Amino acid sequence: NVAQDLPQLPIIPQGVSRSNFNKAIADLSEQIGSDNVSVVDKPPKDDGWYMEHATTHDMMHVTPSREFMASAIAYPGSTAEVQTIVQWANKYRIPIFPISMGRNLGYGGAAPRVPGSVVIDLGRRMNKILDIDPDDYTCLLEPGVSFYALYEEVQKRGYKHMWIDTPDLGGGSVVGNTLDRGVGYTPYGDHWAVHSGLEVVLPTGEVIRTGMGALPNNNTWQTFPYGFGPHTDGLFSQSNFGIVTKMGMALMPAAPDHESFMYTFQHESDLPQIIDIIRPLRISNILENVAQLRTAVQTLAVTGRPKTDFYTGSGRIPQDVVEAEAAKLPIGKAYWIYYGMSYGPKHIRQYKLDIIDAEFRKVSGAKRIDPATIPKDNYFWSRDKIAAGEPDLEELLWCNWVPNGSHIAFSPVSPIRGKDATVLFEICNRRQDQHGCEIFPAFCVGLREMHLIVECVFDKHDPEACEAALACMRGMVDDAAKLGYGEYRTHLALMDQVAGTYNWNDGALMKFNERLKDALDPNGIMAPGKSGIWPARYRGRGWEM
Ligand code: ADP
Repeated sequence: NVAQDLPQLPIIPQGVSRSNFNKAIADLSEQIGSDNVSVVDKPPKDDGWYMEHATTHDMMHVTPSREFMASAIAYPGSTAEVQTIVQWANKYRIPIFPISMGRNLGYGGAAPRVPGSVVIDLGRRMNKILDIDPDDYTCLLEPGVSFYALYEEVQKRGYKHMWIDTPDLGGGSVVGNTLDRGVGYTPYGDHWAVHSGLEVVLPTGEVIRTGMGALPNNNTWQTFPYGFGPHTDGLFSQSNFGIVTKMGMALMPAAPDHESFMYTFQHESDLPQIIDIIRPLRISNILENVAQLRTAVQTLAVTGRPKTDFYTGSGRIPQDVVEAEAAKLPIGKAYWIYYGMSYGPKHIRQYKLDIIDAEFRKVSGAKRIDPATIPKDNYFWSRDKIAAGEPDLEELLWCNWVPNGSHIAFSPVSPIRGKDATVLFEICNRRQDQHGCEIFPAFCVGLREMHLIVECVFDKHDPEACEAALACMRGMVDDAAKLGYGEYRTHLALMDQVAGTYNWNDGALMKFNERLKDALDPNGIMAPGKSGIWPARYRGRGWEM
């Protein structure tokens, strides 16, 4: 029902007349071919599903979908065509919004921040793996290469000595995910940290290469990320300062062997103790990957069964029901579930696993679940694949929890400390109860910090549920900021709010970003509003939400 209440289509960007828009589209079609421009003049048939998602809007819309809807989609086939589109946008003052594949669900999907923007879908035609170097363990990719495609190519070439790293869902773009600072679950899970070298089309149409890429004929673009002078790469991550057309990345040497493990803990109140145990183990690399601590309710949901299979009352599923139902699964009764993996030959793994076991067993009631007892169709084995760099889609199953299941995420970061975990978890519980939402929190533990990824699942066809989900998110962002916690990434609808929390010294960082924006993008055409950065033409004119 995305068609409901849609205004006249296509949605024309504010400040552009319909006739000028039509003229501009005709001009663009002439320049890059009419097959490569698609005007959104009919309501989208539906939202599609993950692998065939609509690129006209956010398939997991939490606001009426027209809020973030494209006027047209352009499909460039080369860096030169991206330049052409950018120059075209400057000429007609039409906002553009680049996506790689548009699958960053929970954060806005393929949707632009400003309604009527022309979405630049890089992924459809710019999908080449330009290089995989089996000696340096690096690759060079275009934006349309998904984690699946990269994985399959590594297999096809018989490079058994190399692994890729994949996030929870493997259908997204490696470039898109990395630019949005997404994470995966092998020791190379911090994608941004292991990227090396970008090619970027700037908002005025020039192309630059960062790092060693600026030195002609170099052979170190993918092996040394910094080059010479200021390290500019950060400007192009979670920003609206350019369109990335190529990205290099390190690949991981395949572990000679690996073994997933799982611990369960019985009480909600075990949280701070578990986190304080994890911290030194993670920092010293005894826990080797971005490991996860999840709640039992999510374990019920990843069976793919709807909530009504377990509970038909209103509001959040009661904890006693969760525990009784979890007890019927192979995992058994539990509140928290820890998923981890150990890498290396048996004797090295055993050394680490023994330390982990001794530490986790300090939590009263902790259990190690023997993987041999876990059926092959259990979610544990999906985590096992992902932690070994094999893409998977099982994570999507928890969207079945409610009809027309969608999700939006609240993703604060904190040090790996029990007291921080407790404070953030309390915020989630309080706001969840206040708004009657269902949330799935997961602590994802990096080397010095943890991301708490709180997915709120809601029925996107139920306006009240959408409103509740958004209000819950907004409440959590505010509560967290008051206590000094910020988000690492957010949905389009929350970008202004989250950017507003990073306001030290009278908003000095945003003022700096705005100066950069105005210098680099004088006509304000590139993804206005992304990450809360508005160009001069839009600033202070009521666009913030
Ligand atoms: P994915 O398909 O990997 O989930 P998306 O294509 O949805 O990733 O992109 C995630 C975010 O990163 C979006 O906000 C998008 O605007 C931005 N982005 C993606 N690709 C590029 C790119 N090539 N250049 C600049 N920004 C990009």
